[in-house]
Amino acid sequence: MAKILIIDDSKLILHVAKSILSKQSHQVLVAEDGKTGLQKAAIEHPDLILLDLILPGIDGYQVCQQIKKATITSDIPVIMLTSKSEPSDKVRGLEMGASDYVTKPFDEGELVARVNIHLQIRELHENLKEKNRQLKEMANRDGLTGLHNHRYFQETISKDFQRALRYHESLSCVMLDIDHFKKFNDTYGHQTGDIVLETLGGLIDKLTRASDLSARYGGEEFALLMYHTASQEAFMVAERLRKAVEQHKFQADNQVLTVTISLGVVSFPHLEIANAKAMIECADKALYRAKKEGRNRVVVF
Ligand SMILES: [Mg+2]
Repeated sequence: MAKILIIDDSKLILHVAKSILSKQSHQVLVAEDGKTGLQKAAIEHPDLILLDLILPGIDGYQVCQQIKKATITSDIPVIMLTSKSEPSDKVRGLEMGASDYVTKPFDEGELVARVNIHLQIRELHENLKEKNRQLKEMANRDGLTGLHNHRYFQETISKDFQRALRYHESLSCVMLDIDHFKKFNDTYGHQTGDIVLETLGGLIDKLTRASDLSARYGGEEFALLMYHTASQEAFMVAERLRKAVEQHKFQADNQVLTVTISLGVVSFPHLEIANAKAMIECADKALYRAKKEGRNRVVVF
């Protein structure tokens, strides 16, 4: 079942088209002039529009043009209704963005067939858009942990740092790294190493707020970006994560492993941070200090 809007100034045409399409169990809306039609198109967002070209006030060509111009309605297919007795220009209608035309008086079978074709095309188009969205989302993710990947993190921090700078918002970044990760791979094999990374990814995802950004930065290194978050609060999030990891029993094959992480926290505004690159470097320096001071700890830059 689809929602179809018919715009025509003839009550007879509206009645006939409505009864034909209602029989196909479509929901049918009608409008008798262009202005009402445009309003209904924007509010109701129908799946398809049947549009008469010769209308009082704004004519069908202008209506079509406006439907195609407005972002909210531009993807709705428009089928022109043209009458043999009325002067109309089908080519002009197609140039304005209409998908097809049907000549009045209708042949019931033809009207139904054309409507169905354009509903199908629209559905395919919607599916394609959804698939593209999914692909784009996948391209931003790390395959092992499901967190965002390095490239996406870099893009986002560059963009969001500029925004924080412009609007004087606080922004915090955490770099964290698994302590002695090499030993998991060396002692238990790479598969166990992967399980550790995957489990840690899950913990990070669970313990960070939905509005924050978490990413696998590379290897055993992860990065967080926390919006509207000053140093003290960022430290608390980092410390909570550190404790949760320390207490978590990592299950790999038949073993239970203990994992600890070191974290470096940096918060903007800060005198030494003028851009996203400096922010990452300072978080890295804090992380390096956390390692040097004995690991399994949070250091604020
Ligand atoms: Mg008319």
